[in-house]
Amino acid sequence: MTGGGMAVGSAPAPADNAQPYPLKRFTEVSSMYTAIGYAAQSATAPLAPMTFQRRALRPDDVAIEILYCGVCHSDIHQARNEWGIAVYPLMPGHEIVGRVTAVGAEVSRYRVGDNVGVGCMVDSCQHCDACRADLEQYCLEGPTMTYATPDRIDGSNTMGGYSNSIVVSERFVLRIPAALDLPGAAPILCAGITTYSPLKHYGVKPGDRVGILGMGGLGHMGIKFAKAMGAEVTLFTRSQSKAEEARRQGADHVIVSTDPAQMQAAAEQFDFLLDTIPVQHDLNPYLQTLKFDGVHILVGLIEPVDPALHAANLVMKRRVLAGSLIGGIAETQEVLEFCAEHDIRCDIEMLDIRHINEAYSRMIAGDVKYRFVIDMATLKG
Ligand code: NDP
Ligand code: ZN
Repeated sequence: MTGGGMAVGSAPAPADNAQPYPLKRFTEVSSMYTAIGYAAQSATAPLAPMTFQRRALRPDDVAIEILYCGVCHSDIHQARNEWGIAVYPLMPGHEIVGRVTAVGAEVSRYRVGDNVGVGCMVDSCQHCDACRADLEQYCLEGPTMTYATPDRIDGSNTMGGYSNSIVVSERFVLRIPAALDLPGAAPILCAGITTYSPLKHYGVKPGDRVGILGMGGLGHMGIKFAKAMGAEVTLFTRSQSKAEEARRQGADHVIVSTDPAQMQAAAEQFDFLLDTIPVQHDLNPYLQTLKFDGVHILVGLIEPVDPALHAANLVMKRRVLAGSLIGGIAETQEVLEFCAEHDIRCDIEMLDIRHINEAYSRMIAGDVKYRFVIDMATLKG
C-alpha cells in the first residue's frame, strides 16, 4: 500500500483521480498494437471481450504475446470495485507468461522468442529509497500496477493480462527458468512472490512452526514454500475436505478453523502465521495460537479489521501483527529460480477465457484447485 491508499495488484488511489506523479514525455518509436482482451466496463458488469490499443514500443519496452495468465482473487476485488479504486474499463490479470515478439532499441536483457513473465507491477519511480532497495512495490511515489493505474509517461490506464499481448519496460519483465512449465509458472508472479516474500523477510527457518491461513491460490503456494524452507507447516482451513489435499501440498497438520476446540488446542504453538483470507475475519483466535514473539502477517486483507482486535493478544506476548505486499522485481526473479530449483509447482486448472465469469463465481465459493490459469489460445476461438 502506498500513502495514497493503493491496493493490492492494482492502482494507486488518488482521492480525486488526479495523476499521482508527473507525466514524462517520450518519443514513440513504432506504431501502436491492436489488442484484444476481457474487461469489466463497470463494477456490476461481467467481463466481456474488448478491443483496445497497446502503446507503441518505447526504447526500453518489450512486446509480449501472452500465452497464459493466472486468475488472482485481487482481480475479482478490482473488477467489482471492492477496494473502491477501480478505473474502467478494467482489464485484470497480473500473472502473465508469454513470449517476446519485439523489443525497443535500447532493450538489452531480452530477445525475440524469450519466455518471459510480468507480475503485478509495470513501473515505479526507480529513484526513491524503496526502489533503490529493490522494493519497487513500496515505491514512495506509488508503483504503476499492471492494470487500472495511470501509465507514468502517457497517463493511459494500464490494462492487464487477460489479453493477447502486453508492452512493458524490460525492467519489469521476468525471465521464466527453462525448468518451469509456462502455465504453471504464471501464478508464481503473484501468488508465489506474495507468499515467498514474507516467509523470507521474517527468516522462517527449519523447525519453525508455520501456519498458513486459507488454502486458495496464495495459501497452497505458502504451504509449499514454508515446507521448502524447512518449517513444520499447518494449514488453517474452514474446510475439513481440504485436509487430505493439504497434506499432499506438504502440510504436516491441518486445523479446521471453524472448530473452537481445535483452535484452542493450538494455543501458543506457532512462530509465524501467513494469513491469505480475502475477507474480514476474527484475528483474535489466530493470534492466540502464536507463541510469544510470534508473527502474524496479513496478505489477504486490506480492509478494517472486524471484529476488533484485542490488543492484549499482542501486548501480553510481544506478538507482531504486520502486512506484506507482493515482492520486488529482483525477489520475483529469485522466487522463479527457487521454484525451478526446488521443483515447486502451482496446482492449476486451465481456463477457457470465455468462462472467466463462471471462474470468478467458483473462486468465491472456494471451488478451484488451486489457481485458474487462462489459456490465451481460447481468446481467438
Ligand atoms: P483464493 O480465493 O484463491 O483463496 C482464498 C482462500 O481463503 C480460500 O481458498 C479459503 O480457504 C479462504 N477463505 C475464503 N473465504 C473465506 C472466508 N469467508 N472466511 C475464511 N476463509 C476464507 O484467493 P487468493 O489466494 O488469490 O488471494 C487471497 C487474498 O490475497 C485476496 O484478498 C487477494 O486480493 C490477496 N492478495 C494479496 C496480495 C498482497 O500482495 N498482499 C497479492 C495477491 C493477492 P479455505 O477454504 O482453506 O478456508
Ligand atoms: Zn494477485
